[in-house]
Amino acid sequence: MSRIEEICIQKGLRMTQPRRVIAQVLSNADDHPDAEELHRRANAIDKSISLATVYRTVKLFEDYDIIERHDFRDGRARFEEAPTDHHDHLIDVKSGQVLEFQNEEIEKLQIEIARKLGYKLVDHRLELYGIPLSEDEKG
Ligand SMILES: [Zn+2]
Repeated sequence: MSRIEEICIQKGLRMTQPRRVIAQVLSNADDHPDAEELHRRANAIDKSISLATVYRTVKLFEDYDIIERHDFRDGRARFEEAPTDHHDHLIDVKSGQVLEFQNEEIEKLQIEIARKLGYKLVDHRLELYGIPLSEDEKG
């Protein structure tokens, strides 16, 4: 049983065959696939799963906080398993590649900024958009 399927069951979701397959595909993904890519991967396991089913299922998983939806400004929603350890993203705007990072100083700084504004920080999202450095710029 996949990790996401286990979480679904813990949360009381009824597991149909398509849900099980999509849960498996999402559990195995270490990138941030969009619905069409999930559909392609799910179809490699079960040809009968439609794109509409993928959309419905990711919406359901998202509503149950099992996965996270991201908008990386390329016009398609991307999905990943809700992380147990928080991370932020850097998006390569040329290739669309998504890199994950964690930075303690940024985390502390954001808590401090919220505090100064009179808030306790409960969540945040940080996305960096970049193009690869040229060999000259790397120096
Ligand atoms: Zn991520």
